[in-house]
Amino acid sequence: MPYINSDHLLSEIEELKKSPWFNRGNGSGNPVEEDEYYVRKDAVECVVDICIKAEPAADVAPVVHAHWVLVDDYGKPFIDPTYECSICKQLTTTPRSEKFCHNCGAKMDEEAEEDENREDKQ
Ligand SMILES: [Zn+2]
Repeated sequence: MPYINSDHLLSEIEELKKSPWFNRGNGSGNPVEEDEYYVRKDAVECVVDICIKAEPAADVAPVVHAHWVLVDDYGKPFIDPTYECSICKQLTTTPRSEKFCHNCGAKMDEEAEEDENREDKQ
């Protein structure tokens, strides 16, 4: 299920309230235009109060993105190619089958940087 940031959504609605669309008819002196302004204003306030502010907050942790980095044993390659989590340094020899770090829970979907292979730094 996708989650949304209600603070961001509410700030977008505050921006909408500054738009010509929202304010058309406000103080125009034309009763029909002014009536439409109040209908829009009431509709937006209903959405904010009933649909957004009344919704309980979900207990969602932000996703941490990471990647596996090929490592060596103090300059010598490990017998099996070994990788570490770019966040917590947890080691694994099976990076391709692990979509999440089993130690810190990071999602392993980041692009690795070119210079992270330690063999290149020597
Ligand atoms: Zn990790």
